[in-house]
Amino acid sequence: MSLKMQAAVVEAFGKPLVLREWNVPTPGVGQILVKTEACGVCHTDLHAARGDWPAKPTPPFIPGHEGIGRVVAVGSGVKAVKEGDRVGVPWLYSACGHCEHCLSAWETVCGEAQFGGYTKDGGFAEYILADPNYVARIPAGLSAIDAAPIICAGVTTYKGIKEAATKPGDWIAISGVGGLGHLAIQYAKAMGLYVCAVDIDDAKLAHAKLMGADAAVNAKTDEAVDAVKKATGGGAHGVLITAPSLAAFKQGVGMTRKRGTCVLTGLPPGEFPFPLFDVVLNCITVRGSLVGTRQDMAEALAFAAEGKVKADIELQPLSAINAVLDRLQRGDVAARVVLEFADS
Ligand code: NAD
Ligand code: ZN
Ligand code: ZN
Repeated sequence: MSLKMQAAVVEAFGKPLVLREWNVPTPGVGQILVKTEACGVCHTDLHAARGDWPAKPTPPFIPGHEGIGRVVAVGSGVKAVKEGDRVGVPWLYSACGHCEHCLSAWETVCGEAQFGGYTKDGGFAEYILADPNYVARIPAGLSAIDAAPIICAGVTTYKGIKEAATKPGDWIAISGVGGLGHLAIQYAKAMGLYVCAVDIDDAKLAHAKLMGADAAVNAKTDEAVDAVKKATGGGAHGVLITAPSLAAFKQGVGMTRKRGTCVLTGLPPGEFPFPLFDVVLNCITVRGSLVGTRQDMAEALAFAAEGKVKADIELQPLSAINAVLDRLQRGDVAARVVLEFADS
């Protein structure tokens, strides 16, 4: 008889997750077992549970890619981590290690990459099977709860800001200041940037100011693009779009300064009309960005360990997952919900 655990499982797209028993996985050769202490809830989990994206996971599966916990068992041949280490099991669950992208430290775009909580079972469960070569090493002094949002929302926005090719003293506009965006503001400030926060919700914009934003613009108004241009003296040098809404994308390109960079990280389903003329005439770079590499992860966690970045967290139990996902869909989560596990 195998050991059982509690898990929140997507059994069918668009249906509530099912809280049920699931076998505790046994680590095979080169694998580890992590006992979950905390797992953040990302908007991506909602896309996963709805089957929003062209490449879909296969139900039944366990979402969650901000899972943090202690290593409780290691398979044979594992040298990278040991029992008792605190690790995170991120979106980049594993990669091949040999392709041109892996060899150039762009393992995030490896064609054989596996994704935590998507192609591999994730952190909405009491235990997670993981690849020791790709787990995040959680710095001593950073709690599991505080680390959880960093391993997706944190690393994604930290990397996205780097990809925006800004320098200290430049302006960055952050469109969407929820789970990702409220951390993006803090990374950007720590990196010496001026920040213009953009959201459709005034409460989120007030929160953005508390997080350090220098200016805030409501995206719902027709004048939003002009307001950002005014606040940033001609458009933001970098724009980071985290909003899970297509409307934000065209707007974000419009907010970009001439010769600036607009980084796309939000992933609403669908396509956005690309303002080709403006992009060409203004020599704007539009660039996609996916989470971050293992090196980006170590850097993103170091900011948190040093207290320069701190997620604003609401704790909930695993059993509340469906209510949390419903609220996330309605835009009714202030920043990040982290699921806290019983005896963590
Ligand atoms: P969230 O729900 O916590 O926050 C989204 C925020 O966007 C909310 O504050 C909401 O009010 C705001 N928003 C909605 N419509 C907007 C609009 N038109 N203009 C401006 N703001 C708007 O979500 P999250 O967890 O921060 O995730 C955001 C998106 O990023 C999701 O699509 C998710 O899948 C994606 N994501 C991508 C990566 C990546 O590697 N590229 C990583 C993590 C998440
Ligand atoms: Zn995520
Ligand atoms: Zn590879």
